[in-house]
Amino acid sequence: MMGEVKKEDILEILKNYDKENITIATLGSHTSLHILRGAKDEGFRTAVVCEKGREVPYQRFDVADEYIIVDQFKDIVNEDVQQQLRDMNAIVVPHGSFVAYAGLDNVEDKFNVPMFGNRDILRWEAERDKERQLLVDGEVRIPFKYDSPADIDRPVMVKFPGARGGRGYFVASSPEEFDKKIDAMKERGWLEDKDVANAHIEEYVSGCNYCIHYFYSALDDKVEVMGMDTRYESSIDGYVRMPAKDQLDIDLSPSYVVTGNHPAVIRESLLPQVFEMGDKLVESAKKLVAPGMNGPFCMQTLVNDNLEVICFEISARTDGGTNTFMDSSPYSYLTHGKPMSMGRRISVEIKKALERDELEKIIT
Ligand code: AMP
Repeated sequence: MMGEVKKEDILEILKNYDKENITIATLGSHTSLHILRGAKDEGFRTAVVCEKGREVPYQRFDVADEYIIVDQFKDIVNEDVQQQLRDMNAIVVPHGSFVAYAGLDNVEDKFNVPMFGNRDILRWEAERDKERQLLVDGEVRIPFKYDSPADIDRPVMVKFPGARGGRGYFVASSPEEFDKKIDAMKERGWLEDKDVANAHIEEYVSGCNYCIHYFYSALDDKVEVMGMDTRYESSIDGYVRMPAKDQLDIDLSPSYVVTGNHPAVIRESLLPQVFEMGDKLVESAKKLVAPGMNGPFCMQTLVNDNLEVICFEISARTDGGTNTFMDSSPYSYLTHGKPMSMGRRISVEIKKALERDELEKIIT
């Protein structure tokens, strides 16, 4: 592995675990409700590491057998919390908030608790250049990238490092408009000169959003489509409810901050593209960050009117949009023939690995 946490050490910890009493644990946020519910459905004990004052959903939905209450989410990396997790034979399932609060460096260098999936791939989704390399090497269709604002010759989306979730993104159609909007952002104090050089400029894809949730089984070398969602984003989705005349009259720069998700299904004729792009990403991940994807991943796409599925972002762990199918999705039902959330699918994989004595394939 890349960081200071070594796979051999994790396997040594795992060797001493009581395999009859594994606990599935995660941080209480993001997608933890269905990760824990799904683990219970598969017969595991469950634990939630919960920030003080945020216990209510876990208690009311009754998804956790054990609570580790911490002052702040980031305390999940504290040695005493890690020890409590190891004492309960915990396998930790990472999600977006886990990575954000624990911190990538800590996950790589300090978190000596067995985790589901490929720990190393988390950095590849977090850094835009690495994420892009995974897609480019896999020959996945992505938005055209501009090297310089001077080249802007059609509508583009401008993104900044650390602005994930869409705050501070803007649309421009010419170099002049780019400069004007940059100046306005600087005036508002949203941007510093040093950030401007790091602006990521890509083709604006005018299309419909589908975030496709896949599961790659490293045990069976198989890619499953588990579900799809679209994003409900502030302020853009409120903005488009305004009559066009009012939109023109008010001076509002929309942002793209995800506030929720809608379940979605895609035209059946697009499914060959959906499977092909998932397979391609799995193959490039195998080459670039062995052993590659391992468990849930998500490809955020826009489908244009040529019916091309264009991927603008990926998650290499369970994505927030999986909350749209805490019971089941049309696609997970097709694959499994019974209700299956992403959380439950993770536990199915862990159970299978325990039965086959192959935990080392899916734990890092
Ligand atoms: P992201 O932070 O990359 O997930 O993007 C936030 C939102 O910005 C997306 O859900 C889309 O609505 C929009 N978006 C991102 N990239 C593009 C693009 N290349 N073209 C059009 N819209 C985009």
